[in-house]
Amino acid sequence: MSEQKIPYKIYLEENEMPSAWYNLRADMKNKPAPLMNPGTGKPMTAKELEGVFCSELVKQELDETTPFIEIPQEIRDFYKMYRPSPVVRAYNLEKYLGTPAKIYYKFEGNNTSGSHKLNSAIAQAYYAKKQGLKGVTTETGAGQWGTALSMACAYLGLDCKVYMVKVSYEQKPFRREVMRTYGASVTPSPSMTTEVGKKILAENPNTTGSLGCAISEAVEAAVTHEGYRYVLGSVLNQVLLHQSVIGLETKTALDKYGVKPDIIIGCAGGGSNLGGLIAPFMGEKLRGEADYEIIAVEPASCPSFTRGKFMYDFCDTGMICPLAKMYTLGSGFIPSADHAGGLRFHGMSTILSQLYHDGYMKAISVKQTDVFAAAEQFARIEGTLPAPESAHAIKAAMDEAIKCKETGEAKTILFGLTGTGYFDLVAYQNYNDGVMTNYIPSDEEIANSIAKIPQFN
Ligand SMILES: *Cc1c(COP(=O)(O)O)cnc(C)c1O
Repeated sequence: MSEQKIPYKIYLEENEMPSAWYNLRADMKNKPAPLMNPGTGKPMTAKELEGVFCSELVKQELDETTPFIEIPQEIRDFYKMYRPSPVVRAYNLEKYLGTPAKIYYKFEGNNTSGSHKLNSAIAQAYYAKKQGLKGVTTETGAGQWGTALSMACAYLGLDCKVYMVKVSYEQKPFRREVMRTYGASVTPSPSMTTEVGKKILAENPNTTGSLGCAISEAVEAAVTHEGYRYVLGSVLNQVLLHQSVIGLETKTALDKYGVKPDIIIGCAGGGSNLGGLIAPFMGEKLRGEADYEIIAVEPASCPSFTRGKFMYDFCDTGMICPLAKMYTLGSGFIPSADHAGGLRFHGMSTILSQLYHDGYMKAISVKQTDVFAAAEQFARIEGTLPAPESAHAIKAAMDEAIKCKETGEAKTILFGLTGTGYFDLVAYQNYNDGVMTNYIPSDEEIANSIAKIPQFN
């Protein structure tokens, strides 16, 4: 099909939308290491996990053999309210960069929560409701996950308790208000409402919080309230499973026009959007059917893949969650508060960690001011105001397109544009005022944090 026939936006018909999630683990020879119980040193059993998570989600978490898991009709009906999301050909950006590369992005910011997180929020809320629970607890960093979960819970009539990282609670009052509008209760973390929160505050009274702290508090709130379970917006296998709708839709859309990406790029916080976007492509790569260059982009301020260590570590600061074998900076690592994005988690999905370890994907880190420079260029040229997290992928995609200009190669680049930047205007303001800094942790800081990881390895 000739170039010109590819529209600016490729949408799917309703009947082309995926009816099953794709479970990448089924095609992995080296499976991700299981979650481990720190008390017993053995893999977490389904029974142990069911004290914290919903039963059906535990099943999905532990299932590493079923390639396709049907999406319940109720969830598909919810997806239809805001999906399919468009695959956009960035013709204007290509022209602006003067590159022979073809650039595509999958835009997940077209729903009120503003990001891809709604894809897993509705699935997790659905299984909680089906189990007859009263409500769910969770943490939120930048606020996108909490917002997504509030929307899903409101739709299904579930109570929703959100622990929001303190720095975001203060920087993003409007996020908080969206959550409250959808009926959630929002507590800044660390707080005095949990034992673990009190302990963290006693040790570090001025802390601005971290995802790790907020997770500890949300888990404690779930296990101490009858009829509640904890849900998590990233990192877990089940979340990557739900996010596979991003990649499945993208692949169907590109296949329609005979487009095959050479390079696939996504930002990586806990790994869910990247894991979802690459899922069907990585599946082909693992089965030896196709090859793709896959690049994870992380902030230089929180570089788990590029400077972390692959080992068992806690997913939370309070050390009450199971251990996951992942690239980690240490569960005590608290990224500098001046970092604007929601990529502040110390660890990484075990699936992506294993794939990275086995050489199936690359990772790079980028500086915050470079990310915002790319975000502004993109906004001015392509029109969409990106979330700072997403702009990490934009920066890397633009750099790859510029390399193509130098070599004359017309590569096809696909990246995930995970969200909108409407709620990140304090960060944009800092950038525009020239006061944004680039905090990059020293080798010593990272080594100290990694040295504190308990030895389970
Ligand atoms: C949460 C979030 C991310 C990072 O989380 P992942 O689990 O790594 O995908 C990226 N972009 C946006 C817009 C987010 O809200």
